[in-house]
Amino acid sequence: MFDETDFRAKPGNKLNLTKVSTDYTAGYGSKEEAQQRIEKNIERMARIQDILYAQDKYAVLIIIQAMDAAGKDGVIKHVMSGLNPQGTMVHSFKVPSPEELDHDYLWRYNKALPERGRIGIFNRSYYEDVLVVRVHNLVEKQQRLPAEFINGDIWKQRLEDIRNFERYLHGNGMVIMKFYLHVSKQEQKQRLLARLDEPDKNWKFNSGDLQERQHWEQYREYYEEAIEATDKDYAPWYIIPADKKWFARLAISEIIADNLESLKLEYPQLGEEQLKMLSVYRDQLLDD
Ligand code: ADP
Repeated sequence: MFDETDFRAKPGNKLNLTKVSTDYTAGYGSKEEAQQRIEKNIERMARIQDILYAQDKYAVLIIIQAMDAAGKDGVIKHVMSGLNPQGTMVHSFKVPSPEELDHDYLWRYNKALPERGRIGIFNRSYYEDVLVVRVHNLVEKQQRLPAEFINGDIWKQRLEDIRNFERYLHGNGMVIMKFYLHVSKQEQKQRLLARLDEPDKNWKFNSGDLQERQHWEQYREYYEEAIEATDKDYAPWYIIPADKKWFARLAISEIIADNLESLKLEYPQLGEEQLKMLSVYRDQLLDD
């Protein structure tokens, strides 16, 4: 068993991802053992989603970040499968389009935020703008910022932007949870090999993933910096051991269900007048 604090970066300690296990399973021994609990968690989420929608006050933003082949798509597919599609939206962020590059970097994410009553999942997010953009120096190559804003402080500045952006969202009723799927370099290698060796997985292979793998250490450092700078109680980061896909799905479903339950949401209650009207309508229908 585990609780969400097991996966929070520990405040005050410098985050070193090489020291955080990628294959911890909290005593669970197998996929089969985890499956029942995942299903329970999905039911818990679905129950609260219904109330969330009825209330129309909070919105929920779930951010999934990871190195390539860490299992983002699988988590989204399995963990969200029991939710009501009407109240759930998934956005996958790719290389920005020319239109998106004509705006400030947060624009496209802001536009995609879930409405009140809804659960929004970001498959990649504005964190890419302090990760891939930083690794490949895309601010200069792609983002067309005026030169005077491109200097050594830009990453610090962006992390502050993100912190403030998330605090602002929180203050407007957004419940934010951020998951980093923590996979080992060795496990990534196995998964990329499987994409080459298994015909049904060939379509997933992207030679670009091999190039990104060359930058593993750099990504790790930038992840550490980003997580440290933006891990707040109003927008927590969870570092999820992801070498076993089933455990990542279990941990994420459990954390989301726990966090949603802790909001203690209740169906909207009708006032006395409205309740009286219900009985008038009931009589009308019965006399029909
Ligand atoms: P995924 O790997 O998420 O399954 P893709 O294979 O289509 O999906 O990859 C999406 C690509 O978009 C990734 O290589 C990622 O680095 C890139 N990307 C996402 N956001 C940005 C951004 N803001 N700037 C540049 N590249 C980005």
